[in-house]
Amino acid sequence: MTYRPASRLLHLACVLAVTAVSLAGCKREAAKPAPPPKPEPPPQVSELDLRSYRPNEAGAVMVIMYHRIEANRKNDDMNRTPEQFRQDLKDLYDRGYRAVTLREFAENRMDVPAGKTPVVITFDDSYLSQFRYLDPAGGEIDPDCAVGIMEEFSRAHPDWKPKATFFILHGAGNPPAFYQEGLTETKFAHLLEIGCEIASHSLTHRNFRRMSATEIEKDIAGSVRQIKELAPNAEVTSLAIPYGNIPKSKVALAACASGSADGVDYRMTAVVLAAWRPTLSPITKVGKKAPFAGQVASGDMTRIERVLPHPGKASLAGTLEYYLKFFDDNPNMRYVSDGNPKVVAVPRGSASLVDEEKVTAQGKLLQIYTLETKPVSSAGTGP
Ligand SMILES: [Zn+2]
Repeated sequence: MTYRPASRLLHLACVLAVTAVSLAGCKREAAKPAPPPKPEPPPQVSELDLRSYRPNEAGAVMVIMYHRIEANRKNDDMNRTPEQFRQDLKDLYDRGYRAVTLREFAENRMDVPAGKTPVVITFDDSYLSQFRYLDPAGGEIDPDCAVGIMEEFSRAHPDWKPKATFFILHGAGNPPAFYQEGLTETKFAHLLEIGCEIASHSLTHRNFRRMSATEIEKDIAGSVRQIKELAPNAEVTSLAIPYGNIPKSKVALAACASGSADGVDYRMTAVVLAAWRPTLSPITKVGKKAPFAGQVASGDMTRIERVLPHPGKASLAGTLEYYLKFFDDNPNMRYVSDGNPKVVAVPRGSASLVDEEKVTAQGKLLQIYTLETKPVSSAGTGP
């Protein structure tokens, strides 16, 4: 790869200038002549922090897809034993991952400390083993269900939040969400309280590929209405397309992202599929030209891919096992937080992935950096 540092620097200066102008544009126009330039620097990540944490907010994030968490089934693509799920959390934690919801990822509001990598845990189809009260009347949460395990893990590791996104199926031909009649509202309230996200998996779980745009709108709006009835405070902004079957027509595809039916308007900031790669940061360019040999997906928040835990296919792209190793081997592809919510810090090597308009639209400042070798005092110790 070749660079033209001077033009790049000039370019960065322009970005900073444009940002400054657009920020100034938010305020009322001053009647006085322009004040002298203030020496106050923009909120940037210090070189010390860059060296310590090597942030890369253009990197890729894993969105993991779980279904059942049951002890009496084997580990495969539809089930993870409680023991294995605990191990997954530990494997992620030990590697510096921290849980965020899908919504936080898609809207680039991931509150993880500097140097850490966000990861999104998602659950489909609201099985009982995802959230079970020991007593059918409520009370104590089963320590072996997904929510019980996440909360226990968070108590033992306070810097891991028990966050996850739950794609709900409830009634309309399906059992009540999480299968315990009469406890759905209690469970939804608890999920929201601990920072989880309640999201749409459509109302009927039919195959979108065989449905018209109008039918899809009705089905999604129906699920949003249902969730809001059970959890009035829930903001439903994420959708998992049933079976990951993307509708073929553009109109039907657009209906997955936004629409209205029967008096319910919805707008999804995140639409997820069922497979198979980590997805690049929401401030990256969207396009078919896949970076890094196609092993990560571009940052298109309307078709976010998911990785699937599957010990039988650990060596195949698409599984959690594969991508844990992939990011161990390719840490430069990982999203690493700069710890500053106002700044998007990106190493020079990943700068070409960035969509600067997205950064500006989010009101953030782009900081592209290179860690130079110190000329005299620390020659030879640079990257
Ligand atoms: Zn499903």
